[in-house]
Order: sequence, then C-alpha cells, then structure tokens
Amino acid sequence: MSFRYFGKWTPDGGGVRFPTPIGMTCHLCNETFDVGDCGTYASVSLRGEAPEVLLPSHRECAFRSVMGGIGHLEDHNFWCSDAVNDPDGGRSYRESALEVWEWAKQHPISGIEGAL
Ligand SMILES: [Zn+2]
Repeated sequence: MSFRYFGKWTPDGGGVRFPTPIGMTCHLCNETFDVGDCGTYASVSLRGEAPEVLLPSHRECAFRSVMGGIGHLEDHNFWCSDAVNDPDGGRSYRESALEVWEWAKQHPISGIEGAL
C-alpha cells in the first residue's frame, strides 16, 4: 500500500496525497484537523484486533509517537521518572508534538533531515 498523507508537504519516499480530513480528529492528540494541517494515515488495529482501519494523524503527532514527548527529550530523568511520569513535560500531546517537531530541526538525526 502506498504511503498516504495530506497537507502541503512531501514525505521522503513520496506517497499519495489525500484531502485534509477537516473536521475529523487526530487519533493521537484528539484535536480536530484544520486548514493547513499536515498528516498521515496509519493502519491501526483498534483494541488490538483485526481488521485494521486507516486513521489520520498530524505528522507532528505521528513523529512524537515515535520520538517520545518533549519532556522526555529535554529532561528524561525528571519527566519520565516514576514520580512524575509525564513525557510530554506538562504540555498537551499536540503542544508536545509541535515542540518535538521543532526540537528535531535543532537536533538533526542521521537519516531524517530531509523529512522535516
Ligand atoms: Zn494530532
């Protein structure tokens, strides 16, 4: 299956652009998509059972789901400790995801520079 995305960006490796699902919610942050948002469709198995469904997410939220939250990146020992246990560092999932996206531009990771 081709990589499916939406918004004005071109993922590394390309894919098929679909209309932005305005009014639907991101399955990661639960915020509503709006004009100008960029994202992807992921095949998700609800409750861990087949069949899988394609759900949209913001590209930044999808990236945060892989990288961890901004708290995790800035001060893992504090934010990810058992006592605090907040890898998003006090921010919402979406706020954290946007900060992780910017953080990655300042902290290049070999192999993904062109994707951001
Ligand atoms: Zn989101």
